Amino acid sequence: MNFIETRGNDGQKPSSITFSQAILSPMSSFGGVYSPESLPLFDEAFFKAHTHSGYKTLAKDVLKAFEVDIDESVIDEALSLYDAFDDPKNPVPLVKVYDDLYISELYHGPTRAFKDMALQPFGKVLSSVAQARNEKYLILAATSGDTGPAALETFKNRDNVQVVCLYPDGGTSDVQRLQMVTEDARNLKVIGIHGDFDDAQSALKSLLVSDVFKEALKAHHISLSAANSVNFGRIIFQTIYHIYSYLELVRIGAIQMGEKVYLNVPSGNFGNALGGYYAYKMGLPVKQIHIASNNNNVLTKFISTGHYDLRNISVIPTTSPAMDILKSSNIERILFDLFGAERTRELMLQLDTEKFYSLNEEELIQIQSIFSADFCSDEEGLAYIKKAFDVGYLMCPHTATCFKTYDFCREDKSIKTIAYSTAEWTKFSPVIAKALTGEEVEHDRDALEMIAKKANIHIPKQISELFSKEITQKIVIDKQDIEKEILNFLNT
Ligand SMILES: *Cc1c(COP(=O)(O)O)cnc(C)c1O
Repeated sequence: MNFIETRGNDGQKPSSITFSQAILSPMSSFGGVYSPESLPLFDEAFFKAHTHSGYKTLAKDVLKAFEVDIDESVIDEALSLYDAFDDPKNPVPLVKVYDDLYISELYHGPTRAFKDMALQPFGKVLSSVAQARNEKYLILAATSGDTGPAALETFKNRDNVQVVCLYPDGGTSDVQRLQMVTEDARNLKVIGIHGDFDDAQSALKSLLVSDVFKEALKAHHISLSAANSVNFGRIIFQTIYHIYSYLELVRIGAIQMGEKVYLNVPSGNFGNALGGYYAYKMGLPVKQIHIASNNNNVLTKFISTGHYDLRNISVIPTTSPAMDILKSSNIERILFDLFGAERTRELMLQLDTEKFYSLNEEELIQIQSIFSADFCSDEEGLAYIKKAFDVGYLMCPHTATCFKTYDFCREDKSIKTIAYSTAEWTKFSPVIAKALTGEEVEHDRDALEMIAKKANIHIPKQISELFSKEITQKIVIDKQDIEKEILNFLNT
């Protein structure tokens, strides 16, 4: 299967490319991205046949259906990385919170957030493709706190790939920052910037299209790629767990095969929700996808009114920083899938120039037939964390936003909901400690201990070890100095 451009073709870039090309060079004409030309379709026989499959078997068959041009041995090795998750037999556990609400836990990998679900296998695949072509790649990652650690973890010491990770200084939790700044592998560089996540992401996007920067890289025989969720190599791995969790509901007898469910997704850049959308388009019985946001509620307004409006707003820092995003990159792929390249280009260009676009009435109806949305304030989030804890479920503030959509987006109360838990409690401990005890706790370390005691659980070793590790990545700079800093790194 080939991949085509969301904003059409400029006559210079290839208009249709393979999966491996799409992951190496994710940016397409006019600033667009690559999307699948068509989606595979799974019938009930496929789902039935996989009801009792393990995660890796299901994953392999989904990748096969996308006809990815990657050697089977590489795929096997990439998927075997799920064996290092907490439970190799079940890397994505499903936990019942209420009779009609199940949580799909996506955080059981090495960096304790859902980014590992895609980045673990993606790192192996990308490095193998680069090696096979005897090419070297620089991966630029902008992170609001979870992508960075997961990207560094998956690429560390891998051949033919170097990684530069940009994070907003002060915009991440202690644990997230430590996960990044204590990385010491030779092929990794971590840079803090003065600004917020949107600044980091836009700096990255302009580097990706900068000819000057590309020329400088050429001198080093290095090409650019990206590990952000604009890269389809991540999205493809994010379709799988939606299917897996649905089948888990069937396995435990909570639903019948074919019964529709709601998916509730805490959303920022919309990669996770896009994976759910593709799963639905491929045949998964989904009634609706509920998009949960925090106070940065651009997506709630977009899905409710059809207006994507960035005028006169800026990012509001919240207790769910991985969702402190205004320009949600993967919405573009939804526009493309529903309305085609010409319309997508028109809308996205308008967003770039006027910071605003509006869907017409018909388009809005199409969006609303599959999506519904709501947002959860920090205060509401704290209350949901406490309420869930009181029935035995410990969750992070991102996951908490799904409880708002569960409360307010369900039109049919007989339909079961799968909500996604996107980070372990350890990554956002001061917020959770506050929710559980009412106390303000400044440092992650103290908060971790308070929660562990209160919930009678252990702090995982991956997290407790961080506090005694040496800090090796100390740079914090202004946006305009990023290019120079990266070139310095490549020269060493
Ligand atoms: C990245 C992230 C999100 C947002 O996911 P998107 O795919 O960007 O929408 C939500 N919660 C956590 C904890 C995350 O790390």
